[in-house]
Amino acid sequence: MSNLNNMTIAAARDALRKGEVTAVELTESCLSQIEQADALGAFVHKTPEIALEQAKAADARGHEGADLNGIPLGIKDLFCTKGVPTQAASGILDGFKPEYESTVTSQLFNAGAVMLGKLNMDEFAMGSSNETSVYGNAVNPWRRSGDEAPLTPGGSSGGSAAAVAADLCLGATGTDTGGSIRQPAAFTGITGIKPTYGRVSRWGIVAFASSLDQAGPMTKDVRDAAIMLGAMSGHDPKDSTSADLPVPDFEAMLTGDIRGKTIGIPKEYRMEGTPQAIEKLWEDGTAMLKDAGAKIVDISLPHTKYALPAYYVIAPAEASSNLARYDGVRFGHRAKLDAGDGITEMYEKTRAEGFGDEVKRRVMVGTYVLSAGFYDAYYNRARKVRALIKRDFEAVFADGVDAILTPATPSAAFGLGEMIDADPIQMYLNDVFTVTVNLAGLPGISVPTGVDKDGLPLGLQLIGRPWEEGDLLNTAYALEQAAQFVAKPARWW
Ligand code: GLN
Repeated sequence: MSNLNNMTIAAARDALRKGEVTAVELTESCLSQIEQADALGAFVHKTPEIALEQAKAADARGHEGADLNGIPLGIKDLFCTKGVPTQAASGILDGFKPEYESTVTSQLFNAGAVMLGKLNMDEFAMGSSNETSVYGNAVNPWRRSGDEAPLTPGGSSGGSAAAVAADLCLGATGTDTGGSIRQPAAFTGITGIKPTYGRVSRWGIVAFASSLDQAGPMTKDVRDAAIMLGAMSGHDPKDSTSADLPVPDFEAMLTGDIRGKTIGIPKEYRMEGTPQAIEKLWEDGTAMLKDAGAKIVDISLPHTKYALPAYYVIAPAEASSNLARYDGVRFGHRAKLDAGDGITEMYEKTRAEGFGDEVKRRVMVGTYVLSAGFYDAYYNRARKVRALIKRDFEAVFADGVDAILTPATPSAAFGLGEMIDADPIQMYLNDVFTVTVNLAGLPGISVPTGVDKDGLPLGLQLIGRPWEEGDLLNTAYALEQAAQFVAKPARWW
């Protein structure tokens, strides 16, 4: 078999079980693709020795067991991996090699998965274009037709998205605080699910905004997302917000039968300035679900317009607190000090050198909104808005809506550098359809369903009821079956 790296997780699992391939062959195929793809900037730290060792062990165990046994994956640089550099794409974590393994990666490795390396991302997961990375940006494998301008793979999980879309790995981990799994998935024509807050342990994942952060899989299709999510999920006593709930067999729930399901179309997501192609994509997706037997209803989520401002108060507030630990004492980088410098100078110089501009902006905004004089005006008000946004969703679910269909992003992938000089708010607008889901703690999935006039992939988002990822994945599966998105980027790297 050739091009083993192009396989889905499900196809590779089945081929491994039949003895048609070995985990070592699969892994070697991915490693050789990774070597040819440096132009994509997806992998920031390659771990071929670990990968081959894990693959050999997987073959030795035999492939009758776990679904992920011998499956080569990429790991976002936000996940602590024992003894392997983990920098959250930040200069301040230069040289940091964790003494421990995150719960998610240990669960994946216990299931037999193979780690190919660490993937690029926005610094501390703050961004929508992967351009805030200390390693430089990742590049989208897709280009506009007839145009060589490099495009962003989205962010913050841009390396994960680029690696999966370019078939450098079979699947990857991502994290999503305001859209960082779903937006890059949409920009690169792949599938990404952010599960219900609490479904996946946050332990050992470098924290950005703890009440919003959730990890999830980024994969080539919905079935793979179901398989990988199953392995990543579950209760973890080391994360007090992790839910003690059974993890269903998500893959077994993919019947494609959505007859009788009610899908809500929220009018507030019809925003001015949304490109025609996205409007059309949304209409087409609605028709596909209807044809599959779902009932389509118009719904209202009245507080949607306050979501982005509330998110950009809450997320920086939590980030400013979480990032206080990077002080030059415990982890990574410490600035060179001048004679006479004391501890204050050490903190100041280390943080000034170690953090990039976007991270500094968030820390400043966060400390401001939490400061004594402004706490009520900003932080507490944002928390109240958050409660209202959550209540909007609860009301439509109580009315019988099973899932909500929206666009995943307000545009297709944009050019690298295009937003650099723009007002930062322009970049923040990328999250307009996704942040509501994090604020409400709900599961959301992005599925590629079409292309724009330039041939770039576009995704739709489905938002589900809490803890019902299985049902959500099944609706996504029905959408995927109907959309038949099979386009691949033309290889230029
Ligand atoms: N783009 C959003 C931000 O910059 C979301 C990032 C994320 O989900 N990690 O905050």
